[in-house]
Amino acid sequence: MKRREFLYKTSATVTAGLTVPELYARVHRNMEKAPTSTSFDVIVIGVGSMGASACYHLARRGYRVLGLEQYDIPHELGSHGGQSRIIRKAYGEATGYVPLLERAYENWKTLESETGAQVYFETGLTYFGPPGSAFLQTVRESAETYNIPLNELSPEACREKYPQFALPEDYQRLEEPEAGLLTPERSILLMAEQALLRGAVIRSGEPVLGWEHTTGGVVVRTPRETYRAGKLVVTAGAWARELLPALAPQLHVTRQALAWVQPAAWDRFALGTFPCWLLEHEGRDFYGFPILPAGAFGGPLGLKLAQHYPGEAVADPTAADRSPRKAEEEALVNFLKQFLPQGYTQTLAMKTCLYTNTPDGHFVVDPLPGYGKDVVVAAGFSGHGFKFASAIGEVLADLAMEGATDLPIDLLRADRFGG
Ligand SMILES: Cc1cc2nc3c(=O)[nH]c(=O)nc-3n(C[C@H](O)[C@H](O)[C@H](O)COP(=O)(O)OP(=O)(O)OC[C@H]3O[C@@H](n4cnc5c(N)ncnc54)[C@H](O)[C@@H]3O)c2cc1C
Repeated sequence: MKRREFLYKTSATVTAGLTVPELYARVHRNMEKAPTSTSFDVIVIGVGSMGASACYHLARRGYRVLGLEQYDIPHELGSHGGQSRIIRKAYGEATGYVPLLERAYENWKTLESETGAQVYFETGLTYFGPPGSAFLQTVRESAETYNIPLNELSPEACREKYPQFALPEDYQRLEEPEAGLLTPERSILLMAEQALLRGAVIRSGEPVLGWEHTTGGVVVRTPRETYRAGKLVVTAGAWARELLPALAPQLHVTRQALAWVQPAAWDRFALGTFPCWLLEHEGRDFYGFPILPAGAFGGPLGLKLAQHYPGEAVADPTAADRSPRKAEEEALVNFLKQFLPQGYTQTLAMKTCLYTNTPDGHFVVDPLPGYGKDVVVAAGFSGHGFKFASAIGEVLADLAMEGATDLPIDLLRADRFGG
């Protein structure tokens, strides 16, 4: 009964615009109407998180864009499935990402104002971790350097505000009020739609079999057609190794488990009441989200959580076994029982998503060495890339069409791993 009331109440307040299935139907109708052509200014391989954004930014600048996606748009076999992604600015991975994040926040807002839809939900985010945590130290440094609001909570204040968590007394408790979550499926559909409305051609179910660099640009082959363009953008996620053999040694694909569970007290974990959270414990990082209404967001209903670590290696993303493992479920359930004691009564759903990890955990966003400025790549998002997608599309459009960008991407150079 509680569950039904919750769905009824929240679906009215958070559904700004169409539900994901309604939006999906509209975008796919527009895709079918696109003109047929084989010659473009730029081709984007992979219309997932980064590729949809690249198509959107390129089309906004008036270029003739072709986006090619091997599966559906969106889909659950790559890295963007599962309803929600955390966005935060006091960045614990490296302070150098913050200027790019500032642009990402701006660009998500622009997408919302252009479409009238909501993709960003400011739930606030709590960071919990042991004394001496290097990640939390960098979170503090990012906040101090860039004036990002970040509150330190005493154990008493934290119990008062977030009674759902049971934490060791000596743990650090931080709160970033302007962090929250993004809805990946809705974001990808909206970016693809905005690209289509500006004349882009986007085809799903059309895998790229190979590409070649020629004197006039690039040639791209699919089972249906051979296309030509002046420039190529490769945003192939977990499949980037196949299209970019030179980068393959630096890209390690892993399977990652996500769980949706039923808490004992549903309302205490709902959107509007419960924040997004990150918790470091004994060298392991867990994170989670408030419960989102399934109709508006797509995906399973329940309290969602996952572990952020490189999971089991995947040799071939197309053939990867995505069935949930008992051990993956147990790790998440044991964590919940210890740190969110009211958070678990039963597991409702589990899904598997893919990370593409680089050796240092930083992305690769750069012209591909050896191809002049004709081939640009965005890969290796190492399990923390979605929040950046709105800015990465802009960077890719800059690099592909202008040969350079003003946005700070030195950290993300392709040649940093050496020969
Ligand atoms: C479980 C999980 C949780 C995460 N949580 C967060 C989070 O909270 N916050 C955050 O910021 N990030 C998070 N991430 C990371 C983020 O989702 C990824 O970094 C991001 O989605 C990567 O985007 P991408 O464009 O590289 O890959 P994708 O979105 O997978 O897109 C790549 C696309 O290329 C297509 N493609 C590949 N090869 C071809 C081909 N030959 N022809 C045509 N198409 C092709 C694929 O089908 C796919 O659609 C998470 C990732 C996972 C897996």
